[in-house]
Amino acid sequence: MTTVVCSICKRREVFFFRPYSGEKICKGCFTKSIENKVRATIAKYHMLQYDDRMAIAISGGKDSASLLRVLTKIEQDYPRVSLTAVTVDEGIGKYRDEALKNAAESCVELGVKHHVVSFKKIYGCTLDEISAHLRKEGKGKLTPCAYCGVLRRKALNIAARDVEANKIATAHTLDDETQTILLNILHGNPLGIAREKPITDRLHPKIARRVKPFCEIPEQETALYGYVNKIGFQAEPCPYASEAMRNPIRVFLNRIEDKHTGTKFALFKSAARIRPAIENMQTKEETTECTKCGEPTSGHTCRACEMLQQLFDL
Ligand code: SF4
Ligand code: ZN
Ligand code: ZN
Repeated sequence: MTTVVCSICKRREVFFFRPYSGEKICKGCFTKSIENKVRATIAKYHMLQYDDRMAIAISGGKDSASLLRVLTKIEQDYPRVSLTAVTVDEGIGKYRDEALKNAAESCVELGVKHHVVSFKKIYGCTLDEISAHLRKEGKGKLTPCAYCGVLRRKALNIAARDVEANKIATAHTLDDETQTILLNILHGNPLGIAREKPITDRLHPKIARRVKPFCEIPEQETALYGYVNKIGFQAEPCPYASEAMRNPIRVFLNRIEDKHTGTKFALFKSAARIRPAIENMQTKEETTECTKCGEPTSGHTCRACEMLQQLFDL
C-alpha cells in the first residue's frame, strides 16, 4: 500500500485532511499551520502591540490549554509582551476542581504566572448555589449558563485588572463564534453581533480589550493541536452544559458543515460584513460605573448585579 504524503512538506505521512482547503497534512506541518494561522489572525486584527500585558483566560479545557501553548510560543517574537494566565473558578463541584488542577499544571509546565478568581469571593455564591436556588425557587427561564456567562465576563475583567493586563485573550474558536452569532439572532439581539468581534473596543479604562486569536480556527483543529502536542486537559463536560441553548445550535451547525463545507467560515464572514451596519444602528451609550459594584456598565446597575438582585431578591 502506498503512503499518502503531506501536501505541504511532501515528505511525511498524512494524518489530517482539512476539508475546507483540500490540504492533506502531516503532524508537524499541522502544528506549524495552526501557529501560523494564529500569528496571521493576531496581525490581521492588530491583537498584539509590542508592550501589551496580556491575560490569557484558561479554564483547564482543551481550547484554552492549546491557546496558552500557542501564545507562549508567539510571545517569543514580542520580547516586551508579558503573559499571565487567569482562571475563573465558578464553583462547579468536582468539575471545576479538576479543571483548575489542569490549568495550574499547564502554567507550571510553561512557566507562566497563574491567577485565580472565584465567584464565591466576588459574588458571595458559587454557580452550584445559584443553580440550586434556581431549582428550588423555580425562578424565571434562565439557565445556569446564562448566569455563568454574565458573571464570568465580569470576573475575568476583575482578574485582568488584578494582574494589570490591558488585554484578555480568550480561546473562542470559529465554532464558538458562529454559535454566538446564531444565538444572538435567535435571542432577538442583533446588537450582540456588533459587540462580539475578534478584538473589542476599549469602552472604559476599567475594561481590558478582549482578543480571540482562535476565532478563525475550527474547534476540531484546536482540539487536534492539543492532542498532537500532548497537552493535558479536562475532557469531562460541565454538568450544566446540556441545559444550554448553545447545544442544539452546535449540532445544527456541525450537520450543515458536514454537508456543505465552509458554512461556518461563510457565517463568520457574513457577520463581519454586516457588523459596521449594526454598529451604525446603535445609539452610542456612554459606559459609566455600576452604582452597586463600581464595575463598568451602560446602565444604572451592571447586568451581573441586576441578575443576582433578581435571583436572591436582594
Ligand atoms: Fe458555565 Fe455553562 Fe460553560 Fe458550564 S457549560 S462553564 S455553566 S457557561
Ligand atoms: Zn508535512
Ligand atoms: Zn454591578
